[in-house]
Amino acid sequence: MKDSESRSTKNRRPRDPAPATFAAKAELPASTLLLFDIDGTLVLTGGAGGRAMSMAFAEVFGVRDAFRGITMAGRTDTWIVGDAASAHGIPPDSPDLAHFREVYLQHLVSELQQPGNGRKGTMPGVRELLDTLAARDDVYLALLTGNYESGARLKLEYYDLWHYFACGAFGDDAPQRNGLVSRAVTRVAASGGPVFANRDAVVIGDTPLDVECASYCGARSLAVATGSHSVDQLREAGADAVLQDLGDTQEVLRVIADFGSRMAG
Ligand SMILES: [Mg+2]
Repeated sequence: MKDSESRSTKNRRPRDPAPATFAAKAELPASTLLLFDIDGTLVLTGGAGGRAMSMAFAEVFGVRDAFRGITMAGRTDTWIVGDAASAHGIPPDSPDLAHFREVYLQHLVSELQQPGNGRKGTMPGVRELLDTLAARDDVYLALLTGNYESGARLKLEYYDLWHYFACGAFGDDAPQRNGLVSRAVTRVAASGGPVFANRDAVVIGDTPLDVECASYCGARSLAVATGSHSVDQLREAGADAVLQDLGDTQEVLRVIADFGSRMAG
């Protein structure tokens, strides 16, 4: 978005040209809301989340391997746990489900310390990208993740990434991911950040469900193939842009700038 086309000027007086001095006087507002997914996008935990869920379910409900056959990637924790509860005959209003969350978080703390299975670590380029974006005033960083907020915090604090994000939308907020972009926009404004529209948001995630939640509400999607889906699968899902990973900061900035210019045009 160009200075002369800033949202506040357009909304207040759409037919008046901006004063010539507007750009010099106004503080440049963040024009793009970047909503980052966590698992498979920023980090991989070596399966800590899945193991912690499984252990908690066994502890609280006495069911082992409760999540066998239940897809986790891209889905909210509320959705995943609801599916497991349904599969094992646990009523959706069972008070034990709230207890499950507490036990899950306890196990997550210890499982994050384990070497785990498969890939574990910060994804390529993530820290450099977040450092670069945090220094800019034309983007605003927040989270859009299926994790419970407390689980998101534990995962990102383990990798020292939590401090980059002021707020976000989490798996506690809505059972389906499609509701989370609007929730994130509302949360950013409520926490003192800029007032965005859904179309100002870019969802950065690793699954077709991240892509879908962006298109569902008029946001853009930047998909990365560092999780459980390939570049081709993410393209087929309709992502607005797809990258192998976030390793090339300048390339990510170009994609975001391209989205911005198309939004303003
Ligand atoms: Mg993910």
